Amino acid sequence: MPIHLLATGGTIASRRGPGGLASVTPAADLLAAAGTPDGLVVTTSDLTTVGSFALTTADLRGLVTEVRRRLAADVDGVVVTHGTDTMEESVFLADLVHDDLRPVVLTGAQRPFDDPAPDGPRNLADALRVAAAPAARGCGALLCFDGLAFAARGVRKVETLRSGAFAAPGRGPVLRVDGDAVTPLARPVRGPALPLDLDADLPRVDVVPLYLGADDALLRAAVAAGAAGIVLQAFGAGNVTPAVAAAVAELVAGGTPVLVCSRVPSGAVAPLYTGGGGADLARDGAVLAGDLSPWQARLLLAAALAVAPHDPLPVVRDHLAAGTRTSDRVDGVQG
Ligand code: ASP
Repeated sequence: MPIHLLATGGTIASRRGPGGLASVTPAADLLAAAGTPDGLVVTTSDLTTVGSFALTTADLRGLVTEVRRRLAADVDGVVVTHGTDTMEESVFLADLVHDDLRPVVLTGAQRPFDDPAPDGPRNLADALRVAAAPAARGCGALLCFDGLAFAARGVRKVETLRSGAFAAPGRGPVLRVDGDAVTPLARPVRGPALPLDLDADLPRVDVVPLYLGADDALLRAAVAAGAAGIVLQAFGAGNVTPAVAAAVAELVAGGTPVLVCSRVPSGAVAPLYTGGGGADLARDGAVLAGDLSPWQARLLLAAALAVAPHDPLPVVRDHLAAGTRTSDRVDGVQG
């Protein structure tokens, strides 16, 4: 059965124009540049031609819906070309609802399609190989870049311009791609697929950043803008300023769920400190979200609010519990 290639835009599809880079290259041209890997049959379609920084949450629901529609046809897997800026969010939502053994693999590029040395063709060829690889079955939605594939949960963009754009701090990749060989490194541990209605809007959840001396103004502005839930991009292991801690206690008591993540890219948050620290936040009912990035946590909380509007936190906790187990490293293979 074929692999389906679905293009959405991003640097992989972009060419230089008078105003800057524009994502104009269709899927068929991306595939022609990558070459179809030996033994594969690839079908193509185009969903959008935009930079991923311009995608809305509604676009993301549309993308995941389209991926599911393609999987419902007879394909062995789906590859999505996508901008790198928000790829970690798209792959996460795709994974949250994914209940199929066949892989969905997102990829993109750091250098444009018309660059003299583009990285997109190799990334796309690798992603197609991963989508067809038995080792990728059951791994959920994956992000394939620069010779490695990462599980959705925990993957982050870590470089703005260099070709190794992604990493999964503290977790590592799950597959390595060398030419035709796709080598398993680890099995991701995934939470249960959420029965999310992709036709309905996701409730608004905002990420509020912490910085030295931050007051509660942004937090309150988010709620005033209609946020049904809040994710804190907290200091260190999950600490905030006393002003934000006091506002969080008030919000949680009023029924607004609050998740705590870190602005540090690696490691989990923990209920350690009082005086505005994670111990106060946990005592007051905020949920410490492990090592989940604030952006992935935002989608988890929004999905949980959609699935269980009156009691979203058990959904969040279930998902966090599943994903905090370390994925098994595959014996004898260096990660
Ligand atoms: N820098 C981005 C990319 O790599 C732009 C985007 O996210 O579309 O594609």
